Amino acid sequence: MRAMVSATIRTAALRHNLGIIRQRAPASKVMAVIKANAYGHGLAAVAQALDQADSFAVARLEEGLTLRKAGITQPIVLLEGVFDQEQLAVAAEARFELLVHSLEQIQLLRASTAMGKFVVWLKLDSGMNRLGLRADQFAQARTALESLPNVIAPVRLFTHMANADTPEHPGTAQQLKLFDKVTAGLPGERSIANSAALFAFPHAQRDWIRPGLALYGVSPFTQSTGSDYALQPVMTLTSRIIALKSIEAGEHVGYGSIWTARRTTRLAIAAVGYGDGYPRNVAAATPVLVNGMRAPLVGRVSMDMIGIDVTDLQRIETGSQVILWGERMPVEEIAACAGTIPYELLCGISQRVASQVV
Ligand SMILES: *Cc1c(COP(=O)(O)O)cnc(C)c1O
Repeated sequence: MRAMVSATIRTAALRHNLGIIRQRAPASKVMAVIKANAYGHGLAAVAQALDQADSFAVARLEEGLTLRKAGITQPIVLLEGVFDQEQLAVAAEARFELLVHSLEQIQLLRASTAMGKFVVWLKLDSGMNRLGLRADQFAQARTALESLPNVIAPVRLFTHMANADTPEHPGTAQQLKLFDKVTAGLPGERSIANSAALFAFPHAQRDWIRPGLALYGVSPFTQSTGSDYALQPVMTLTSRIIALKSIEAGEHVGYGSIWTARRTTRLAIAAVGYGDGYPRNVAAATPVLVNGMRAPLVGRVSMDMIGIDVTDLQRIETGSQVILWGERMPVEEIAACAGTIPYELLCGISQRVASQVV
């Protein structure tokens, strides 16, 4: 039985994108960022496809455990670390690498009776002011960590850029400068760059890069798409036409009757809506591909359906394929139409969407 809405995940594209990323940062190891269900692509399937990555990064302990249960043996980094002794014990058992971004987390390690030694990434808050130790706390925190018997020395050094996707923003240079100043002369591998930084700031690549979005074939910059970097989209979100009709000029479509036909219109209804994760607040005439041809969305996005003006297309019938984003319909373009970023659309695929890994 064919699903009404499916997200096709191309593992060949994932591997291709990892190759492109390695070409961009040939001296760096790759920590593949697969948090949030691998940006909606499926945690275990993506990790299995990316078996050539040097490590994986997730946000939460549960995500790491899902990977271990799926048989993933590579190093797994918890990007937010752990928050109590129970989590710390589970992390030790699962051999997770830990981010340490606060003095509380050093206390947790000091008080721990869990067996095993941790690879620890100490996070500097170099200007994003979200997670991380302040510059004036960093050296002392590092010394404290390295004195603990359950921490592997040297501690690794980590920070995160707030504005790498806006290359002209002066903040990135300031953050890099502060990181280099605070970590000058220290041993330990370094990691700074997300997708945007690895493309826009080669100087930020260091020992480990941390690509997320680029692995999925999507550009982290608003004025480009993944294909500008030779990346291939991994997810294609597909539905199909379930009804066709003609409406007369002056008639309306959908809730609120916000769209009015200006001519006799061939209207197609496709089985996809915000209940699947297609954004409700897209701009008028946001494009979709029907049988490979672009056509504009009309009327409001419903929970389970959208309307499409197919007057100018030939040979559309019920069952015709509709592509919402993915191959030949960049998710970057749809995100712009929805006033959001591709990250949110990809992560927002709902649970009823069937995932098809090819
Ligand atoms: C999510 C995340 C990344 C990956 O970011 P992209 O923009 O998707 O490449 C890298 N580092 C950290 C700390 C993150 O939270």
